[in-house]
Amino acid sequence: MSAVMVDVHSVHKSFGPLEVLRGVDLKVRSGEVTVILGPSGSGKSTLLRTINHLEKVNRGWISIDGELIGYRRSGDKLHELKEKEVLKQRTGIGFVFQNFNLFPHLTVLENLIEAPVSALRRPRKEAEETARRLLDRVGLADKSGAYPRQLSGGQQQRVAIARALALEPKVLLFDEPTSALDPELVGEVLDVIKDLAGTGTTMIVVTHEIGFAREVADTVVFMDGGVVVEQGPPSAVLDNPQQERTRAFLSKVL
Ligand code: ADP
Ligand code: MG
Repeated sequence: MSAVMVDVHSVHKSFGPLEVLRGVDLKVRSGEVTVILGPSGSGKSTLLRTINHLEKVNRGWISIDGELIGYRRSGDKLHELKEKEVLKQRTGIGFVFQNFNLFPHLTVLENLIEAPVSALRRPRKEAEETARRLLDRVGLADKSGAYPRQLSGGQQQRVAIARALALEPKVLLFDEPTSALDPELVGEVLDVIKDLAGTGTTMIVVTHEIGFAREVADTVVFMDGGVVVEQGPPSAVLDNPQQERTRAFLSKVL
């Protein structure tokens, strides 16, 4: 078995009086794809956001490739890292959002080279070569000079995926990457993610696409009410769920 890449340990997160994550444990092994399912409001986005420290946790901890995220341990205390150190860690964690979040005033190619050049100090020429290779990989080699508004939603999301890959992340997080797309554009984005899965990219994908989960996931995690209710291979969780809450959810989405 490969090493644990993402380790979420007993994570609690509240917003004021609202406890959104109530002790989440999750391990994702290197090269594996974990798909997170769950009803709206169950804490899926919050969990992803804690993994790259866009949200601080109230209890518990998260490590990626053995390195604590957002904190440094000294003795049995955790101290929060400085913003600069957090930003550095975040470059190793790719995040693909529902609404693409491309820079509207930059071309596709510029969107891809911005972070490698400014955050990783890559030479521009090298960043550009990588960007062109990645655009080719997501089927958009001919769009390097286009602006985001000139692309379809599916194309924009494929650019966003290429942009995340340009930082050579240890793990890629997807938060409902196809939810904002017209139905006929969903497939092209899922195909790109499937392709990445085949090349051993470690990924956590929040989605409602059950067919995708069945086909691509190594592990399916069902969340409800801020906890992991059930997890296992797709054949177990999707076809033979053990928990009533999982069955109730699947009966609504299948
Ligand atoms: P999901 O992605 O599963 O739909 P979220 O993680 O987005 O769920 O949200 C879980 C709960 O946390 C919801 O009740 C949501 O309203 C609440 N929540 C999320 N972010 C914040 C925030 N920044 N401030 C207050 N409440 C929040
Ligand atoms: Mg969400």
